[in-house]
This record gives sequence, structure tokens and C-alpha cells, in this order.
Amino acid sequence: MTPNEFREHGHAVIDWIATYREKIEERAVSRPIEPGAIRAALPKAPPRHAEPVSDIMADFESILLPGVLHWQHPSFFGFFPSNVELSSVLGDLLSTGLGVVGVSWEAGPALTELEETCIDWLRQMLGLRPAWRGAIQESASISTLIAIICARERYSGCAYTQGGIRQPAQPGMIYTSARAHSSVGKAAMIAGFGMDHIRTVPTQPGGSLDAQVLRAMIDQDIASGARPAAIVATTGATANTAMDDIAALADVAEEWGMWLHVDAAMGGAAMLLPECRSEWEGIERADSIVVSPNKWLGAAFDSSVMFVRDHEHLTRVMSTRPSYLRTQTDGQVTQLRDWSIPLGRRFRALKLWFLIREQGVEGLSKRIRRDMVNARRLAQLVEAEPEWRVTNKITLQTVCVRHEPPGFGDEELDTHTRAWAQAINESGKAYLTAARVDDAWMVRVSIGALGTQWQHIEKLWADMRAHAAENAALMQARTADSAMRGQKNAA
Ligand code: PLP
Repeated sequence: MTPNEFREHGHAVIDWIATYREKIEERAVSRPIEPGAIRAALPKAPPRHAEPVSDIMADFESILLPGVLHWQHPSFFGFFPSNVELSSVLGDLLSTGLGVVGVSWEAGPALTELEETCIDWLRQMLGLRPAWRGAIQESASISTLIAIICARERYSGCAYTQGGIRQPAQPGMIYTSARAHSSVGKAAMIAGFGMDHIRTVPTQPGGSLDAQVLRAMIDQDIASGARPAAIVATTGATANTAMDDIAALADVAEEWGMWLHVDAAMGGAAMLLPECRSEWEGIERADSIVVSPNKWLGAAFDSSVMFVRDHEHLTRVMSTRPSYLRTQTDGQVTQLRDWSIPLGRRFRALKLWFLIREQGVEGLSKRIRRDMVNARRLAQLVEAEPEWRVTNKITLQTVCVRHEPPGFGDEELDTHTRAWAQAINESGKAYLTAARVDDAWMVRVSIGALGTQWQHIEKLWADMRAHAAENAALMQARTADSAMRGQKNAA
């Protein structure tokens, strides 16, 4: 494609995106789709001859778009907000257009130094002290993996780095709560700890990992020959936004010299607001934190920031020195390859830079505050409605709910909960996800898409009540029907 052709098609694509965002509300949030339907509509083999971009765009609209879940829709309340401000799209586009690969500082001085600057801006925005430094990682899962690797090398005195997976003699233990994201277990597995060496610590009624029980578990593990290596705490658990008590966990971590990693992938965005910072009191005593601006904050995926306090430990663990990457500036500059797993890195800071500059800290804070207020308003409506219950403490922007019609047993309630959420999703009017917490299914209303205003939440609430009532009536009718048939058969 020549630059001129790119100009022409590029304008068309930008136009397409602008219209998509402008009119997104006219679309269904999702459409039911049969597994395999998209693949079946695509050619089995690659084209032999060049095809016009207009044909590619036409197929994009007719084949692919029906299989897209519209995460940027104001009635998207599923999973977690994964906002992409259009300013961030521009930064991402520039990054791709430049095609710079930051294998070293020399390979992209601006790439490295803008990333350092943006990370420091984010640090200030979150109210963290200057000792924290960081880098953009591909995802929160990778950030947690790197933290777990750092923990492994700290507890073992770098024995794994030297001796490989047979080292050291005493297995290291990782402690986290049942509310922690699945990426913690995956990271522990990949880092060589093994699932047998992850302890799930029970939580207290408020949802925080219980530090007393944790202490008892550590004592027991030490008595049986293991070594405590890391605690992974969460600021804003995925399912219900539960918060761990970071200060209490820091006390335990410090006692045994353990690595304390805080997963604030989604919830970290709320720490822009000074009034929320009590939720992660003690954060300055953690060893690493992950905050993903690609979730609630509005930076295009992938943009997950891992902060560390002892960056020298991190770079000792992660660095490699192939001769072809040695340069005159070694020792004077930051080599971001030593802060992460891949060698190459995109100019990802551009999307963060565009976002922060175009929105300003004030604009970003205002939106986060709006979502938190809306979550509390919805929780009040739900609590005031007979048969409805809010099942979580509203710490951020997620409201977890159950509709509990009288006479339903636990199993029926679970079936009902999943069914009414599914019915809403199939209607295309909104999108929600259900999750199981403490052995019961509930529906998570994850508020925070860029365009979500109170009127979208009010409409969702009306739809929730209508779909739940309809499903409850259906289930009651089925139960009555099968009871009648049972009586007839008995007669
Ligand atoms: N941690 C938390 C608290 C999350 O909510 C998520 C997202 O679901 C993750 C980690 C994983 O994020 P990523 O997809 O960036 O690895």
C-alpha cells in the first residue's frame, strides 16, 4: 500500500470508527451467534491475488461486525470497563504507524523516555511516592507473573536463576485469597512454584484476606519445611471489587521478608481520587503493584503498568546482555527490555500520553467519580426493591445483585440468576456477566463504559426487573407443571 493509498483508506477507516462510536447506542450490545459461524463465513484459504481495501472493509462489516461484542457501548456492564478513549486510539495509531521496536534505548530514545515520563505521571496521579518506578507490560497477568518471578528470586536468594527448577531445597509458598484473579495461580505455575504451593487464604466478612489465618498458615508451612515467598493482595477483586487490607498484609510480609504484590489492575484507577486512597492504605510498603490503564482509565489495550519499589532487583532478575544490543549509552539510560519478558516493545506510551494530555487528570477523575456515584445510586435502588439483594460492598463501580423470589431453593436461585442475565444479553439491550462468589451465583453490574450515564443504568434496572420477573414466572410455571404431572402419575 502506498502512502497515498493509505491516506485515502486511512481517512475512511477513521471516519468509520468515528461513526461507529457516534452511533454505537443504536446497535445491540451483542447478538447471539453460533460458535463457528464467523469462521464458516470466511474463506478457507488466503487470497492468491491482491484484493481491494473496499472489499476487505465490506467483509469486515458484513462478516466480522456481527460477531463483535460492543465493549464501548454505554449499556455494556460486563466483565470490567475496558475503555478506549478516542485520543488513546490516535496515540496507538501513531505507534503502529511509526513501527518502532524498542529493543534498547538507542532503538527508540523517545519510546523509552516517554514511557518513563508517563509512568511517572501515573505514579503521581495515584498518589504514590517517587521511589516507585515502572514499565508498561502487555497485561495485568504478565505484570503479576513478573512480580511472582521477583518473589521467587528474593526468597531463594536467586537460586532459581542459577540452579534452575531443582533449586532450592525448600519450596516457596504463595498466599492469596479466593477472590484473587486467576492470573495469580497461572503466574505461580509458570514461575515454577506449582499449584501445590499456592495457599488460598480465607477472607474476613468484609472480603479482605484474613491476616490472622494467614499467619497461622505460614507457621504451619514453615513447620513442614516450606518458605513463605509472596503474598498477592487485591485492590478491587474482579468478581465483586473486594479490597484486601494492604497494611495488615504488609505487616505479615515484612515479618517474613516476603514479596507483597498488589493487583489493582482495574481498581487502581480509583486511586486517582484522594478520597479512595484509604482503600489501599499501606500501599507504600508493597513491593510491586499492577494498575492497568487499559481497563477503567481509558487507554487502549494493551497498557498495563507494573510498578516496583526495588527496580534493581527486578532488572537483576529480568536482564539479558546479548552483544548485539550493547551500546555506548549502557549504564546511562533505562533499558526497558530489562523490565519485562519480551525483548521488543511497541511505542505504547503514546496512547497513554495522548489520553492523559487530552483528558487531563481532572477529566479522568471526574469520569471515575461519576461511575462510583452511579454504582452507589444503583445499589440503593436494588436494596429498596423487595426480592432483590446487593451482595457486595460497593467499593468501586461494580454492583453485585441477586433476585431472590420467595420459595426458590439455592439451586433454583443459581439457575434463575444465570438465566435472567443470559436473557438480557440475548436481548441485546445490555450486557452483564454472572459470577460465583461464596458458592452462590450473582450478577455483576460493572458500571464504567465511557458513555454510560445514569439514564443507561436506570434503563438497565428496568430491564433487569422485567427479565428476572419473566424468568421467575417461567420457572414457577415449570415447577407447578411438573408437580401436577407427578400427582397425576401417582394417581
Ligand atoms: N487482575 C484483575 C483484578 C482483573 O480484573 C483482571 C482482568 O480480568 C486481571 C488481573 C487480568 O487482566 P489481563 O487481561 O490484563 O491479564
